[in-house]
Amino acid sequence: MLHRRTFIQYASLGLGALSIANQRIITAFFEDPWKIKMLRNNVGIFTERGGTIGFLLHKDGIIVIDTQFPEQSNHLITELKNRTDKPFKYLLNTHHHGDHSSGNIAFKDLVENVVAHENSKINQQKQAERQNSVDKQLYPDTTFTNELKIKSGDIKLTADYFGPAHTNGDALYMFEEADIVHVGDLMFNRRHPFIDRSSGASISNWTKVLDTAVNKYGKNTIYIFGHAAEGYEVTGTADDLLKFKDYLNRLLGFAQQEVKAGKTKEEFLKNKEIPGVTEWKGDGIERPLTAAFEEATSGA
Ligand SMILES: [Zn+2]
Ligand SMILES: [Zn+2]
Repeated sequence: MLHRRTFIQYASLGLGALSIANQRIITAFFEDPWKIKMLRNNVGIFTERGGTIGFLLHKDGIIVIDTQFPEQSNHLITELKNRTDKPFKYLLNTHHHGDHSSGNIAFKDLVENVVAHENSKINQQKQAERQNSVDKQLYPDTTFTNELKIKSGDIKLTADYFGPAHTNGDALYMFEEADIVHVGDLMFNRRHPFIDRSSGASISNWTKVLDTAVNKYGKNTIYIFGHAAEGYEVTGTADDLLKFKDYLNRLLGFAQQEVKAGKTKEEFLKNKEIPGVTEWKGDGIERPLTAAFEEATSGA
């Protein structure tokens, strides 16, 4: 990113005096803050601020998974309307967290159906009441418990729920034709995860959920992740899911071992790494350590 001061220096020269390369740099300075990347079979991802958005542009309509925040959703809607005049058929939420569902409101009167796991809807309602933001919500009108098959024209989608993990309402959505699954915050790629125990999270079950996903979906399935560390992709493969499962196993095992050894929470939270974990680094280790300690001492 070009710094403003540098830009002003260039601008004062007048564009005519600049090399083509420098003109390109200046164009980049004015580029949109969001990115759209098409994956395959007209499924793409949108990234700006918050959890990764997935979408399908189909002759029978548009499907959107997650919404970041209202400003970001408005950017997305403008972009998609430039690419197709088809209607917005379904909006799907992977879970209730604000960086995935706050933008729902931008789809009010625009999308035909909003879908989420039944617990995600309850969590979204509770969260909105707590934050006094009920009027800024667009809630799901369709919820499911274990599985939901969605068919709209030739569009085929499957929603799955494999039990508590990041929250107690994490849905996995598969675009059948493209063989692409959005797993939301069930996957933090090489980045320490948020584990929302106040919304029913379970590390031990999370590892099972990742196994179930890998066993259910195909070898060539592309996964869309909620978040990734700087420099890592927000899409990947079953191998990434299994590596994250290994991280979670080591995290919880470490907490259980330290609790058994009589460590206090305060002592445990002083750890800067999890033994055996090499690829998950960077800031934010206190949050998973806290959740793991609490899970290890609560017996749940
Ligand atoms: Zn998130
Ligand atoms: Zn989340």
